[in-house]
Amino acid sequence: MRLRIRSCGLSDRGLARSHNEDCLELDPEHQLYLVADGMGGHRHGEIASRLAVDTIRRFVVTSSDRDATLPFVPEPDFERHSNVLKMAFRIAHDNVLWAIHNDRRLFGMGTTVVGLLLAGDLAAIAHVGDSRAYRLRGGELELLTADHTWVNEQVVAGNLSGDQARVHPLKNVVTRALGGDKDVDVDLREVDVAPGDLFLLCSDGLTTMLSDDEIHRSADSGAPVEDICKTLIAAANARGGHDNVTVVALQVDEE
Ligand code: CA
Repeated sequence: MRLRIRSCGLSDRGLARSHNEDCLELDPEHQLYLVADGMGGHRHGEIASRLAVDTIRRFVVTSSDRDATLPFVPEPDFERHSNVLKMAFRIAHDNVLWAIHNDRRLFGMGTTVVGLLLAGDLAAIAHVGDSRAYRLRGGELELLTADHTWVNEQVVAGNLSGDQARVHPLKNVVTRALGGDKDVDVDLREVDVAPGDLFLLCSDGLTTMLSDDEIHRSADSGAPVEDICKTLIAAANARGGHDNVTVVALQVDEE
């Protein structure tokens, strides 16, 4: 069975920030979809998120030739395209560190990234930081990523509820980022893809403004992906739009 993917990505500055440090990429030809959320003073977050997204895309494109030799040893438990996505994140991390090394004014910049790379009916999902991936299937919204944040560590430890974490004063403290510590640990998983699935990638400007139930209600409308992105961004801004907000939506159908 061949799958057809309809995709849309929208990013909005929100109502409180003077500029947008989020970045997104849709590459339907290579079936790559990315959301990044940059951090750092003096608009350096914009540099970090764009550099990471461009690096990941370039590596995925050059590695799409199956004869291309990969620069790291692939993990045997994962498919080739999943390994490619994870390697792309590691190279992006090195590129952000290299940019800082070459221009000390960029010190402290970094970025989250969540990426989805599809091959056949298997989606590789990689992430670092608190940008998220969800899958809506059969009326259920499933969070596919675990935030690399201090508050999520508290949720896992049983010290905070999910709703407390979402509004906690330290909710923006990420524990992993591309461009952070010298080494980066990239989370990777594979999920199956079936007709009727809707995938969402988003920055925390969406998920700190809206609960998962609210995201579910807005996404589970059967509307075109463009309308789903617009509705989610409008809902985040209606709550105050405290942060940049970015949403990528992928609707899966049978060809
Ligand atoms: Ca953000």
